[in-house]
Amino acid sequence: MSTYDVCILGAGLAGLTLARQLHMRRPDLAIALIEHRRFPMPEAAHKVGESTVEIAAHYLSQVLDLEDHLKEQHLPKFGLRLFFRGNQAITDDLARYDELGGSRVLPVPTYQVDRGRLENHLARCAQGAGATLIDGATLRDLSLNKGNHLLTIRDGSVEKQLSARHVVDASGRRGWLRQQCGLKRTIRHPNHAVWFRVQGSLEVDAWSKSAAWQDRCMQTPRRLSTNHFNGPGYWLWLIPLASDATSVGLVFDPRYVELDKVNQYPRLQEWIACEHPLIGAALEGRQPMDFHVLRDYAVGARQIWSEEGWSITGDAGLFSDPFYSPGTDFIAFANGYLTELICGDSDAAAYTEYQRHFFAFFSNTLSLYRGQYGAFGNRDLMVIKTCWDFIYYWAVLSKLFFSGCYTDQAFMNQVQASLFGAAALNSGMQRRFRQFANSGRVGGAGGFYDYHAVPLFHELKKNLLQGDPQDAAADLQRSLKILSGVSKEMIGLLTCAQDGLALPDLADLGARQAFQFR
Ligand SMILES: Cc1cc2nc3c(=O)[nH]c(=O)nc-3n(C[C@H](O)[C@H](O)[C@H](O)COP(=O)(O)OP(=O)(O)OC[C@H]3O[C@@H](n4cnc5c(N)ncnc54)[C@H](O)[C@@H]3O)c2cc1C
Repeated sequence: MSTYDVCILGAGLAGLTLARQLHMRRPDLAIALIEHRRFPMPEAAHKVGESTVEIAAHYLSQVLDLEDHLKEQHLPKFGLRLFFRGNQAITDDLARYDELGGSRVLPVPTYQVDRGRLENHLARCAQGAGATLIDGATLRDLSLNKGNHLLTIRDGSVEKQLSARHVVDASGRRGWLRQQCGLKRTIRHPNHAVWFRVQGSLEVDAWSKSAAWQDRCMQTPRRLSTNHFNGPGYWLWLIPLASDATSVGLVFDPRYVELDKVNQYPRLQEWIACEHPLIGAALEGRQPMDFHVLRDYAVGARQIWSEEGWSITGDAGLFSDPFYSPGTDFIAFANGYLTELICGDSDAAAYTEYQRHFFAFFSNTLSLYRGQYGAFGNRDLMVIKTCWDFIYYWAVLSKLFFSGCYTDQAFMNQVQASLFGAAALNSGMQRRFRQFANSGRVGGAGGFYDYHAVPLFHELKKNLLQGDPQDAAADLQRSLKILSGVSKEMIGLLTCAQDGLALPDLADLGARQAFQFR
């Protein structure tokens, strides 16, 4: 029987990144990765999880030292961009949609990732670092015994046994431990998703003849954004991939979009052509490379880490919602905690504390989506909401991650009051946003809401890149003040939106707050 320090079940994004992080910290660890599929994985039509946001990009590029690979083998991302139509479908020009996005790229690079390409690279790196990768193998049985877990796998036609001090479940949605140990926790967010990829790019930038619209984004093509076309109860994504393909997906609340209308490619194509004819026209004559339907994508677990030496990372544990692409962020946090638990000298209390923080981050994140899809076609609400959600994300969660202090228990105790304060403000704002859930469509006036024009966004992002970890506690305190001031402004803006009044210029957002970090 082969014996390892750590056995990771599943060599997807969570398992492979964990293997890399563990080896970076402790090169001597004997690590085995057991993967059901065979490498190399296909490019383009592999898995979803292609758009990265700040935490994920920082994790992959800086913590895991993959910046060169990301720059050379993937695409730079031009932020999140949302489009809103009114009650009439727009057939002729994308400039007639309202647009919420940046005129230029904001600081802190993010990427559009080809998942097959990334997993192949990570698998090669893991083997190069000395990990044993057993692909084409399936876990059959797992017997948990502290210090000596026993795994039975089927490798081709042969059954093998392995033993390990730590076993990590990174098996994705199958969630081996969640199923076997009865750890499932129901998340009341029963939304669905369907998606596919097509060869070649969808040239969003060519969908308008308006010179003024073209001039808004002079330096970078909109095609590189994560483009979302929003409507009541749904959003449709377009994500470009470096393997000359485009990922397209629809995420929806079934109270607004019937699953039966979009659960096969021809039906979805028809639905898209009806709702967003410009996308429909661009898809005409193209064959999908794949097609997937996922019901009830939100998953939860009661426990994910145990001092008995087993743990869970990635979708095998928790997943909230893909609207802001937080999947890889949660892998980053989970793997950071696990690296500490496996490689550091953590006591039993650390398992409980880390899990408490992780669950708190998760429930805060879930609150951004739950019960809110009905308002996703309302431009005014979404302008206010995305600005709030970004500020909260950069000022709190990203700050914790970029500073690297989130595994430091003394630090987390020190900033507890700031975190509680921020969470309470966030929960209050999400409650207000939820009140717009039946507001239908607002949009189609050809307006532009430019993230790049908001000085506060630059300031928050600059602080992520340049802030000294020594100042992280003080920065979080300032973040709380900023959130408190901005929340009052936003409540005023929500009243404007409710009364159908025009929103003020985004550049004024936060202008009254003394937000300068130094
Ligand atoms: C619609 C949608 C869109 C999304 N978009 C984004 C996005 O834009 N950005 C983002 O960051 N996240 C996104 N996510 C989330 C992202 O897809 C996941 O968080 C991420 O892929 C999870 O990675 P993982 O390694 O946990 O799981 P996976 O990548 O699924 O890996 C699990 C691996 O385990 C293997 N396995 C399973 N069972 C066994 C077994 N018994 N034996 C051996 N091997 C096994 C599987 O073959 C697989 O390779 C999205 C999610 C959804 C649903």
